[in-house]
Amino acid sequence: MKIKRAFGILPLAAMFVGGTFLSPNKDNPYTSNIFENNAHTIDTTIAVKKDTILPVVSIPAVNPDLSSMIIAIEPGHDSTYIGSRVNGAIEEDLTLSIAKKIDSLLILKGYPTYMTRTNNTRMNINNVDVNKDGCVNMRDDIDTISKYIKSVDAKLAIIIHYGAYSAKKHFGPYREFNSVNGAEFYFYGILNKKQLTDGVANYNHPEDCKIYSASSMTVAKELTKFYNDNGMTARVWGSDFRILCDNPAEVTILTEFKYLTNKKDFEKATSKEGQLADAKLVVDFIDKKRDMIFNPKSYAANLEKKLK
Ligand SMILES: [Zn+2]
Repeated sequence: MKIKRAFGILPLAAMFVGGTFLSPNKDNPYTSNIFENNAHTIDTTIAVKKDTILPVVSIPAVNPDLSSMIIAIEPGHDSTYIGSRVNGAIEEDLTLSIAKKIDSLLILKGYPTYMTRTNNTRMNINNVDVNKDGCVNMRDDIDTISKYIKSVDAKLAIIIHYGAYSAKKHFGPYREFNSVNGAEFYFYGILNKKQLTDGVANYNHPEDCKIYSASSMTVAKELTKFYNDNGMTARVWGSDFRILCDNPAEVTILTEFKYLTNKKDFEKATSKEGQLADAKLVVDFIDKKRDMIFNPKSYAANLEKKLK
């Protein structure tokens, strides 16, 4: 099935039926309780059928000027491959909840968006051995998510996590807070190929990376700067997380918005206001920097021209 075609027709149809797409009114079902009820009503569990990835079509109207600026949002973890547990907070619930806020805000601006899950069910629900390594595990889920992001032709993928840190060797739920805080933005960036097989997650300074996604690195650095400029603590890292190595969209950014093991961050990560602050900042960034994010090559060329 050709994805682009299905994608092109449905949002446009919705646009004509639904009327104005940039000024949502109270009759628009997507604006009532928008942050509780996600605008996507199609369950992502239909996305994977045997080994075929079927596209889930973005429902609301898309601003035609933004129609090529396709954004995939991946709320990290699910009920099977669970995330961190910190003093009662459940990472996979928090990632889903902020993902829905980001998604809703993007939809209000008219961007075409896709979510990799809208409930706690994992994407590889049919237990496909996607990477054909003889077993079905979390890697197959990550690979399914990655395939899905490619299948919808996303130009930007936002992979959402929350951080947790302990100075001691750690197992099970976190029960203590510490001072490590702030947002972290990751792109695919490694020092050498050995990092891919050393069995640990690597955290590299952008300037040290020898192998990297240039477009993802540029956007991750800009997003970090945007956070800092807005008075928020943020750091940027090159890394070899599995989904980053695959870099399923031209710009693929993994975010850890807050550290759940920091008391102030915890309060922001687990409150609606705190989540909205991050969601708004990210969407604001995407909207302001869309020329760079969705057209990194011509953006770089223009910059070069200006410098000459
Ligand atoms: Zn996580």
